[in-house]
Amino acid sequence: MIPKLELHLHLEGAAPPALIRDLAARRHIDISGIFDERGRYKFTDFAGFLAVYEAATSVLQSPEDYARLTRAVLEDSADQGVVYAETFLSPDFCGGGDLSAWRDYLAAIEEAAAQCAAQGGPELRGILTCVRHFGPERAKRAALCAAETAGRFVTGFGMGGDETVGAQKDYAWSFDCAREAGLGLTTHAGEWRGPQEIRDALQDLGVTRIGHGVRAIEDLALVDELAERGITLEVCPGSNIALGLYPDLRHHPISELDRRGVKVTISTDDPPFFHTSLTREYEGLHAAFDWDEGQFMRLGHTALDAAFCDTDTKARILKKLESTA
Ligand SMILES: [Zn+2]
Repeated sequence: MIPKLELHLHLEGAAPPALIRDLAARRHIDISGIFDERGRYKFTDFAGFLAVYEAATSVLQSPEDYARLTRAVLEDSADQGVVYAETFLSPDFCGGGDLSAWRDYLAAIEEAAAQCAAQGGPELRGILTCVRHFGPERAKRAALCAAETAGRFVTGFGMGGDETVGAQKDYAWSFDCAREAGLGLTTHAGEWRGPQEIRDALQDLGVTRIGHGVRAIEDLALVDELAERGITLEVCPGSNIALGLYPDLRHHPISELDRRGVKVTISTDDPPFFHTSLTREYEGLHAAFDWDEGQFMRLGHTALDAAFCDTDTKARILKKLESTA
């Protein structure tokens, strides 16, 4: 039960299958095809993953559904010893990108998160995301939702979705808009495309964090640049292995990136989809690289430094990290 921080967690991607099945049954939506015989999410490749993800998300149709989802996800996080998490929220899935609808979803999510925190659970903050394969115009609507609701809970803006669609620079307007609103910036890069995508993200979007970024390892000059600039990678080893990027943890570059001075952190991305949890990630890294409690605590501090929350929150989380150490 090492205290943990998680920076890369898609809220819908963390939805327990039982919750999704229950909502589908209440709404008479047949999504039985997305589950295997054990009731787990079923897909074979990244395109299939995105399709299952969107089918599962389609049953989440109201602010109340998202409040329920938030509570379920935070209960799971609490079980993993998480003291602080940032979750990706997409206005496209919460009201179709409409600002007024988004405000209703946000209020429900924020209230659920505040209740969990008041009961001693993890503190949660939101990073609004645009969906890359929905295109730049819809991304602008997501960015405007982010800018309009930036504050204590909404602390960042990012981009998820299919990295092979378009270019990072196509979304520069949205990231500029979010930056002007004072939001922290991150984007998925260096997962399905190589090192150039990471360079583009840094240059064209001005992000300080990269979602995944693991394929930087294919360009050691870029690895040095990431280390020198203090760019933080939100690394999700189990996700990379489940989607076939690497055969197993021993072949995963997280340890080499860390050894070369890159700021790495550990997250689960979409845990029930990849049959993982943060505790399982820690156990796997311990087994593969002999990482010990000191190493995990060091990475916890890296994550806290890179978190998009305010300094008061950081001070509070630091106390939790140190008091439970
Ligand atoms: Zn992700």
